[in-house]
Amino acid sequence: MTIRRIQPWRRIAEAIQAVIILGIPFVRINGESALRFDISSLRLHVFGVSLWMDEFFIVLMGLFFLTFLTILVTLLFGRIWCGWLCPQTVIIDITSFLDRARLKGVSQKIAAYTLTLLACIVVAANLIWYFVSPYEFIPALATGSLGPVIWGFWISLSVILFLNYAFLRHTWCATVCPYAKLQGALFDSSTMVISFDGRRQSECMDCRACVRVCPVSIDVRSGLNAACISCAECLDACAERMEKKQKPGLIGYFFGRPGNKRKLMRTNALLIGAVTLLFLFFFLYLSFTRNPFDLIVMPNYDMRPRVTEKEELLNSFILAAENRGRQDREFTTAASLQGRTVKVLPERIVLKAGEYKRIPIYLFLPEKERGNAVLTIETSQPPPLRIVRNVGIMLPEEVK
Ligand code: SF4
Ligand code: SF4
Repeated sequence: MTIRRIQPWRRIAEAIQAVIILGIPFVRINGESALRFDISSLRLHVFGVSLWMDEFFIVLMGLFFLTFLTILVTLLFGRIWCGWLCPQTVIIDITSFLDRARLKGVSQKIAAYTLTLLACIVVAANLIWYFVSPYEFIPALATGSLGPVIWGFWISLSVILFLNYAFLRHTWCATVCPYAKLQGALFDSSTMVISFDGRRQSECMDCRACVRVCPVSIDVRSGLNAACISCAECLDACAERMEKKQKPGLIGYFFGRPGNKRKLMRTNALLIGAVTLLFLFFFLYLSFTRNPFDLIVMPNYDMRPRVTEKEELLNSFILAAENRGRQDREFTTAASLQGRTVKVLPERIVLKAGEYKRIPIYLFLPEKERGNAVLTIETSQPPPLRIVRNVGIMLPEEVK
């Protein structure tokens, strides 16, 4: 009888997760990191889109979506995240040599701790790359111009991670992790868990192989324990023991109690799934309909309305313009008053990618009359954009 071990699949999932998390900062889309929060400009670069501080409601929708997705996945599949994808578990598994070295001589211990420290230094740098692009970080490191703030963060993070991975390890999951604490409230009677099949209790050899391999030192036979990280080590250990008796393992994945029918479609899961989809819809809708250009027109208080030598009424306004896109953009300006074209200067405005500018603009009106002029700013560069604003005409004091 052949047994299907879980651990090789877990190792593959962990390797994919590690490559993705390490690799994302190196991926560039439209010249920017695929995922990075730029602290200096307070902008979030996310897969080709740059979000500004005043657009963080889009990020908020994304965070709500991820929160409800986590609740839904936990309700359906228990702590699958902890056992298969959580960076804490992945790095503990990558540095599993440390657990073996603790039982060996001093030289092996020193080598294991040194390797763990090196891994923590790389992980800390990887975390910083989500804020400072590795394409700036690595050259700055090579030329010795990294700066004291980044050095300070890097060293502090490395030390914290080293203390965590060298000494705390799975104790974090069992005691401190807030997600672990929450999961009890998120489970219901049909949530998938790793459980001992009590219906076959008489077949248990009490070999304790399942207890010995458990990284959080619990006995899965005693029932569901909040410290269990769903790593499935006990499942494989028992399957190997039972294989010798030509029987399936006594520990497995079960939806609720062993013997219960799998019930994925249940009221709470459907409701949470609907809310999750709603937030995903809002997030995508807001992301795809966001305005890549922001424009506010206000009076220019540095230049009062006046009449020129050519008897034209001159009004000035300030265009507060922000190019939120990734490309430089050139705009043309135009204005009209009661359907007639009005001279406007400057005729061209150029805004670099990500640039915010306050640009004085001048309207030369043929008649000294009140009313609203229509100001049009447009570009034919893709995506074409046309912004129309009504501006109130002001008369000089002497004309009033
Ligand atoms: S009980 Fe099993 S699945 Fe849970 S932590 Fe221990 S070994 Fe992993
Ligand atoms: S490994 Fe299996 S047989 Fe051995 S004690 Fe655990 S549940 Fe019983």
